[in-house]
Amino acid sequence: MNAVVAAGACCECGSCVTVCPHNIIEYVAGRPRQTAKESAPFDHCGVSERVGCDVCATVCPRLWPREEQLRDAVFGDDRAYEGIFGVYRHVFVARTRDGSVLGKAQDGGVVTALLAWARQEGHVEGAVVAAVGEGDSPCFPTPRLATTVEEIKASAGSWYTYCPNNLALRDAKERKLERLAFVGVPCQITPLRKMAHADAGRLQVPGKKPQVISRQIGFLRDPAERVGFSVGLFCTEVFRPELMSEHVAGRMGIPLDEIDKVNVKGEVRIHRRGGEMARIPLEEVVRDYQRPACHHCRDFSAELADISCGGVGTEGATIVVLRTQKGVDIWRAFEASGQVDVRPIAEHKKAWNIMLRLARQQKERLPPGAVRADGDAPAERRGAPIPGDPGEPAPGEKRRLPPPPLPEQGGASPGMSPV
Ligand SMILES: Cc1cc2nc3c(=O)[nH]c(=O)nc-3n(C[C@H](O)[C@H](O)[C@H](O)COP(=O)(O)OP(=O)(O)OC[C@H]3O[C@@H](n4cnc5c(N)ncnc54)[C@H](O)[C@@H]3O)c2cc1C
Ligand code: SF4
Ligand code: SF4
Ligand code: SF4
Repeated sequence: MNAVVAAGACCECGSCVTVCPHNIIEYVAGRPRQTAKESAPFDHCGVSERVGCDVCATVCPRLWPREEQLRDAVFGDDRAYEGIFGVYRHVFVARTRDGSVLGKAQDGGVVTALLAWARQEGHVEGAVVAAVGEGDSPCFPTPRLATTVEEIKASAGSWYTYCPNNLALRDAKERKLERLAFVGVPCQITPLRKMAHADAGRLQVPGKKPQVISRQIGFLRDPAERVGFSVGLFCTEVFRPELMSEHVAGRMGIPLDEIDKVNVKGEVRIHRRGGEMARIPLEEVVRDYQRPACHHCRDFSAELADISCGGVGTEGATIVVLRTQKGVDIWRAFEASGQVDVRPIAEHKKAWNIMLRLARQQKERLPPGAVRADGDAPAERRGAPIPGDPGEPAPGEKRRLPPPPLPEQGGASPGMSPV
């Protein structure tokens, strides 16, 4: 609570609340809050003080280990290629052939088409998504467990206000769903990996009752065990809700219930029903409405997801990064269904260059005093180079970006790649 929430670093993912085994914290007004004993200080946890716990801190994406250190746990030696944007097997550009998805989707509709296909074919029972649905204020999504193809398709499109998708994993437990896809921004994928890979050994301390230990380990692992595969979205920031309520609705006079889609392509584009589009300069929005907690984030490209997707430098197409073998297997079957067009990344050099530039920028932007990537790491692990990073250029030299990989070096989809 002190190192993350009070420090202004909490990304509001809700993961700590999802895993708390003893109902000490709840998600209140977009933050975790200690509600078990209202009279106690906000960082008080009687369980932690008496029997020991800290499951919440174990999954928090703001605390060590962070993405680069977690690469070992998630990928082990299974790293075909490695770049500043993470471990990957394939990187390419794709677009769905399903017109009903493409019209509503953010970029190439790949995320929604993949989820809808996976549900249709019975690979998953549903998907954790963010959507503006019944009961939500227009333009403000809430976490949803979409269990039908229709519900999945209704979630197409990105909203740039924060939506704590990890909270939907509590509903998954209640509804006994055990094979889900999970979509989230990077700060939602990292806790998912921590739930799966964190060392549970430290919960097993002498004197703690076995049933308490097993409850704590169960809560730590359960949400991740329900996720069959994860799709991470590239992300540089989200905006404060006031962008929509104060600026778009208030100053620009656009009723929020008339907005179809918001997109960021070098500028913020507000698409109204009926086809009209309003623009706001990106610098203005970043200056006035960027959420400060995002400055504590180092992960642009969802480095730990099975599949990562983004839209920088593309129009109407999605950049797809397949990272794990699981991601490759699900994509290969999806591509074989004939529902998607794919192009090698070398044909989208601009997208490749922006992706590398933003991945680096995000790693370098932590504010002074922030918990650094390795700030709370054991001494011997501090200052380790970022795997796959070519490092700083020599003095006086310009930074050179590596060229996009050729198809035979992972620069194409599995269906296109020479084996
Ligand atoms: C907050 C945010 C910031 C982003 N920033 C960038 C960026 O800087 N650069 C970049 O290249 N790409 C960014 N993206 C990703 C991009 O907008 C597209 O989601 C991605 O390219 C996939 O496009 P698609 O057409 O295949 O997705 P679609 O088929 O349209 O599916 C989009 C998915 O996004 C999910 N979603 C929507 N809003 C949210 C939300 N607020 N939080 C979590 N999940 C959500 C939906 O559940 C849906 O499953 C961002 C996405 C979000 C949500
Ligand atoms: S230490 Fe354990 S019981 Fe206490 S708030 Fe964190 S997760 Fe909940
Ligand atoms: S787990 Fe997420 S919601 Fe909880 S403190 Fe950390 S960043 Fe905030
Ligand atoms: S920039 Fe980072 S912290 Fe902010 S929403 Fe995106 S992934 Fe989360």
